[in-house]
Amino acid sequence: MKTRRFCPHCGRPLLKSRIKGYAFQCYCCDADFYKSEVYRKKHLERVKNIRKTTLQWEIEAGCHRHGIHKPYPRLKM
Ligand SMILES: [Zn+2]
Repeated sequence: MKTRRFCPHCGRPLLKSRIKGYAFQCYCCDADFYKSEVYRKKHLERVKNIRKTTLQWEIEAGCHRHGIHKPYPRLKM
C-alpha cells in the first residue's frame, strides 16, 4: 500500500503502521512515525539527499540489501 510518505531517517517510502496511535512505519529503521514526523512529496529534494546518505552508508557498512525506492519488506515472523 503506497502512502506517499517518506522515512525521515532513511528516505524510503513508508508503509501504514500496524501499531495503534502511529500513522506510518519503516521496516528498515524498525521505527514508527506520527503524521507530522514524516516527509511528503513536497519534501522530495530533502528525501533524495537522505537517500543518498543512506545508500552510501549502507554500501560502506556492507548491509545494502534493499533498494531505497521501495518500502522495506515486512519481516516475516
Ligand atoms: Zn527508514
